[in-house]
Amino acid sequence: MIEKTTFTNDDANLFELEDKELKAKALRHSVLPRLRELANEAIDEVSRIFKCNLFEDSTECFSPQFRPKRDVELKIDYNAVTAGISPKRSNNKWLALRKKDGQNPMIIEPRLWFVLTADGIVPSLDILPSQHLDDTSRKKVVDWFCTNNEKIEHLLYLIRGRVWLNDWPDHLSPFTPPAELFAWVYGRRRRYMHLSGMWHQFPIDTPLSIRLLIRDFTVLYPIYAGMVNLAKGTPTGIGAHMQKVRCYLQESFKDYLRLQPSSDRELPVIDHERVARLAATKVRVMPAIRWQVFQRDGWKCCSCGRGSSEGAILEVDHVIPRSHGGKDSLENYQTLCRECNIGKSNRDMTDLRTHTAKKKVHEARLAKS
Ligand SMILES: [Zn+2]
Repeated sequence: MIEKTTFTNDDANLFELEDKELKAKALRHSVLPRLRELANEAIDEVSRIFKCNLFEDSTECFSPQFRPKRDVELKIDYNAVTAGISPKRSNNKWLALRKKDGQNPMIIEPRLWFVLTADGIVPSLDILPSQHLDDTSRKKVVDWFCTNNEKIEHLLYLIRGRVWLNDWPDHLSPFTPPAELFAWVYGRRRRYMHLSGMWHQFPIDTPLSIRLLIRDFTVLYPIYAGMVNLAKGTPTGIGAHMQKVRCYLQESFKDYLRLQPSSDRELPVIDHERVARLAATKVRVMPAIRWQVFQRDGWKCCSCGRGSSEGAILEVDHVIPRSHGGKDSLENYQTLCRECNIGKSNRDMTDLRTHTAKKKVHEARLAKS
């Protein structure tokens, strides 16, 4: 299922668009649904590996969160899209921490999510240390980081990840241990700490790169879970999860070998005729035209009418296939959801736009008479 999710150079070029509204709509209706699909797959993986019910303490979070009737949200110049999990907002969950006013906090960090920018996608655990915790609670969190520093470093090492700050101060070297960075960041305004896996650059369209993104998200989970447990006041520690991580990496290593293009293996025999045929039928959409097609069709599937709010992943389809002389032009494209697109073969040349339009005219006439 997830193997069908792809991110192309169109997604990178999107950030260059001058039309902010088109950009916001493309993020909302095309990029975000695919990123959330990736996040959901990663959430399933975490639940399977750590045998936990993530939604007991966490909730799906993503940004930007476009709300209906908030046109102002379409005018923002976005430079990132995120999807993943965050701890639930709650009055009586985070009992081990206190704010300066003596109350328990409603919201706690961190966020475990995928971050998509013009540079690609990275799985990341982002922490914006709270300004509002009292001194005892702050010490508790910093101590937790110190106690677990070695394990955090080890997990990062396993995925070739790293720690970075959104605004790195001169006096801290890139080799500063995570706990030390965390202690420094804590309580400073607008300083985020990111524990990230490897960046994947666009296009991200192979099963291997999708698998690796999900794997790194999964390996970062124990740090997230440790922080959540700390806030709950339940026995914490990343240690309990380390063995599961090791087994998981061993188990999935075979998958990577299978998916990894290897020079040691026999070279495939290339069927040149087939390659030429595939090249002729492959949907090639010039950057930005994709968004124009979606825009024209109202960001909805021309066949079933579903949009991003109904969970549709939108694709561009040739009305007349290229193999039948169909042109790469706006007029010959239509928006279909993935399901409808799979159902539509090359032989089927229904232009669903005109079909729907004609049907509407017909219905309007019937209504009048
Ligand atoms: Zn559809």
